[in-house]
Amino acid sequence: MSFNNNVMKDIPKISVVIPLFNEENNIRQLYDELIPVLTKLVNNYEIIFVDDGSRDGSFEIVKQFSLENKSIKGISLSRNFGHQIALTAGLHQAKGETVITMDADLQHPPNLIPELYKLYKNGYDIVNTIRLDTADAGIFKKFTSNIFYKLLNYLSDIKIEPASADFRLMSRKAVDAFISINEKDRFTRGLVSWMGFKQVSLDYFAPPRFAGKSKYTIRRMFSFGLDGITSFSSKPLRISFYFGISVFVFGIIYAIFAIINYFHGMVIPGWTSNLVSILLIGGIQLVSIGIIGEYIARIFNEVKARPLYFIKDKVERIDN
Ligand code: UDP
Ligand code: MG
Repeated sequence: MSFNNNVMKDIPKISVVIPLFNEENNIRQLYDELIPVLTKLVNNYEIIFVDDGSRDGSFEIVKQFSLENKSIKGISLSRNFGHQIALTAGLHQAKGETVITMDADLQHPPNLIPELYKLYKNGYDIVNTIRLDTADAGIFKKFTSNIFYKLLNYLSDIKIEPASADFRLMSRKAVDAFISINEKDRFTRGLVSWMGFKQVSLDYFAPPRFAGKSKYTIRRMFSFGLDGITSFSSKPLRISFYFGISVFVFGIIYAIFAIINYFHGMVIPGWTSNLVSILLIGGIQLVSIGIIGEYIARIFNEVKARPLYFIKDKVERIDN
């Protein structure tokens, strides 16, 4: 029985998972703000830094932290796999009764953690967060992100709040469910919404990045958005089919019209109508093939069944 108690004591109450991609100028500040919050809240925590192929000194700093504090752990992935995979890698490592995922750039304020934890104590398995405003997100990012979530909610069966962030708390039950999902294209927000369990959302104000620039370039945001849509909806395929049908019907009507004209002797040069219909049909065909291609690429990705990531290095003190 006492053995059991010891085992229970070793399980951290909170694991914090933080993906890093070239964040050497942020993590010291993050560490300084995070530690007091966690020590005040629980007597046993762990912080897992996931170095996602950084080319700066991020992981060296993590090693330093782990010498200072035995609750700090780190893994270093073999290359840059992207934010979503890095999050999953961290969740695989986390041993805590609850796991909190957050960004390294202090846009996810550590002082919100007690509120997340309180909601967990009140019986929620997943506590999501929604940013009320992002001080440094340009109008373009806000606008495109808004349109994206409207489109995603319209196209798919899952509901995702616009402006939801990957700053969230999950209970052990929810984390185990999440890591049992084997998909390669991991759109975390979508998967979490799809998982169910008792969920709640908390609003917060996101300050500007402490240091450095956002790692989500326009190209990355676009591919993130495409992952979100294609992994939660097959409606685009159907829409391209409907498009095809409407153009076909339109073509038949136009053909009848042209034949009637022919018998009335009203044969006109018809260059414009020819060109327009070729462009229209050609365009729609290319779009439809592109949409199908996106899904096939995803099937290909799943079928290859490669591991999600590789770990190159690990720091963890074993003296605790
Ligand atoms: N990140 C990562 N791998 C990447 C890109 C980003 O691990 O390929 C991390 C990054 O270090 C940060 C978090 O993901 O901790 C969110 O990235 P960022 O702040 O650049 O995104 P934004 O807040 O602008 O959406
Ligand atoms: Mg950020």
